[in-house]
Amino acid sequence: MASGREQGRDPVAADNCIFCRIVRGEIPSRKVYEDEQILAFHDINPVAPVHFMLIPKEHVESLAHVEERHQQVLGKMLVLAHKLAREQGSPDGFRTIVNTGRIGRQDVFHVHMHVLGGKDPLPGMIQRST
Ligand code: AMP
Ligand code: ZN
Repeated sequence: MASGREQGRDPVAADNCIFCRIVRGEIPSRKVYEDEQILAFHDINPVAPVHFMLIPKEHVESLAHVEERHQQVLGKMLVLAHKLAREQGSPDGFRTIVNTGRIGRQDVFHVHMHVLGGKDPLPGMIQRST
């Protein structure tokens, strides 16, 4: 039988992962939504009036590590974003961000989708650096 690692899961990484610890209830979070596959919770350091994160409960490092079998849960995260953003106080649109790897400046290596919004439009996208 294939081990967890061969199936793309890394039990050691999941043990120490801050978002896996939130999923397991070892670290508190302000939950926005939960089902058997997905957890949504407020970002601890919000950068907009509405700022929460959607994550798969399964430990997957980043968008660069997802496999075909993750399509359903990732699709569900996208479908939920609008409903949850509206409920959280972003009635007329929102922004989703998935930082990935070194270039994407990902800090927490458990794939997550930021949902940002509020009553007023957000600032523009990233600044041109050159
Ligand atoms: P990223 O740079 O896309 O990896 O974003 C990681 C995000 O996780 C940051 O916006 C942090 O503020 C947020 N974060 C880190 N620890 C926690 C926590 N314990 N609860 C909620 N959000 C967190
Ligand atoms: Zn994790």
